[in-house]
Amino acid sequence: MVAGESGLGKSTLVNSLFLTDLYRDRKLLGAEERIMQTVEITKHAVDIEEKGVRLRLTIVDTPGFGDAVNNTECWKPVAEYIDQQFEQYFRDESGLNRKNIQDNRVHCCLYFISPFGHGLRPLDVEFMKALHQRVNIVPILAKADTLTPPEVDRKKRKIREEIEHFGIKIYQFPDCDSDEDEDFKLQDQALKESIPFAVIGSNTVVEARGRRVRGRLYPWGIVEVENPGHCDFVKLRTMLVRTHMQDLKDVTRETHYENYRAQCIQSMTRLVVKERNRKYDQKPGQSWQGEIPSLALGETKPYFCSSIGPGLNLSGCWSPPSLINPFLPLAN
Ligand code: GDP
Repeated sequence: MVAGESGLGKSTLVNSLFLTDLYRDRKLLGAEERIMQTVEITKHAVDIEEKGVRLRLTIVDTPGFGDAVNNTECWKPVAEYIDQQFEQYFRDESGLNRKNIQDNRVHCCLYFISPFGHGLRPLDVEFMKALHQRVNIVPILAKADTLTPPEVDRKKRKIREEIEHFGIKIYQFPDCDSDEDEDFKLQDQALKESIPFAVIGSNTVVEARGRRVRGRLYPWGIVEVENPGHCDFVKLRTMLVRTHMQDLKDVTRETHYENYRAQCIQSMTRLVVKERNRKYDQKPGQSWQGEIPSLALGETKPYFCSSIGPGLNLSGCWSPPSLINPFLPLAN
């Protein structure tokens, strides 16, 4: 997923990353139309081949983010989208055909930060805080060619400090094993110190030092997208599609999805217990006075089958009737 204010170069970077032209048909809105703009979610599929391995990636874009005059809670549609994917996965997992589940969960969110401000903007803080429990956030310092190298370093340091200060939990690169060779360890250290990745995107191929490269041509020279001396593009691409793709998926599965699932089951359990208590209360002399007890996981299934009929599908397997958003508190 790519998110961040319009015009920060998200589409250009996606095209550069996957050597495609995904946004051919994109319609850019005028200022008037954007005043009341709400955030949309769009999806594109790309097929890439990495060292002989063919991969199908889905790129989720969030046009309209930060475009309106009032951007309060403009992260909400994005959060809802991520939750919907978890919900779908949860349903599929509880169904019959669990072997062929299509995994549409969002494994990584590249969040674009403007190079023009002084560190994070309130909207950036709000977005990342709202989403860090749901998705792996990888911060990106956009349009790095607009900054000098010392400015890039300063801005990166400031952004890292602010991320820490606001308690934002971005994606943590795993520590490498102690028996890895020194080169690998240095590479790993450099990757961690690059956060936020300072990137440059370009849709055009230019000629630099006799080679044709993706870059941006200026009157004073050429910036090359894939030159590690110019920006962190190669580091970002390598980490996304080679070195850390599996870890991103593992963290989604083991942490973000597990949180969703646990909270979902907890919310449903509380509903069931409430229902049971209500039944007790209706019978004279059997009213339940104590705390609402929590049920063991196994106990929820019969309750769903017996008390919430639609949850029982034709094969007798339990499937959640209507999943409750676990991030919302239950009304008493
Ligand atoms: P989006 O709205 O975030 O998807 O942004 P776009 O990819 O449409 O880019 C907006 C404008 O910024 C376009 O004119 C791009 O050519 C330009 N742009 C994209 N990436 C870069 C970059 O890395 N550096 C500079 N200087 N301009 C860029």
